[in-house]
Amino acid sequence: MVGAGAVVKSEAPDYAIVVGVPAKQIGWACRCGTTLKFNENQAVCSYCSNEYILKDEKLIVVKEGK
Ligand SMILES: [Zn+2]
Repeated sequence: MVGAGAVVKSEAPDYAIVVGVPAKQIGWACRCGTTLKFNENQAVCSYCSNEYILKDEKLIVVKEGK
């Protein structure tokens, strides 16, 4: 997910939400496009129920939802 006017650098992690110039990461998105809300380092997509953990600055899918 990329905000309006953002310049995306190739090193932006998968699922990272970045905005602005230079691109600044403000959060993470599920692969379905829903913004993820984290509890500690875990998140569950409110839309598709995919489960993620954040590890070493990377988002890892731990369970596929619907
Ligand atoms: Zn999702």
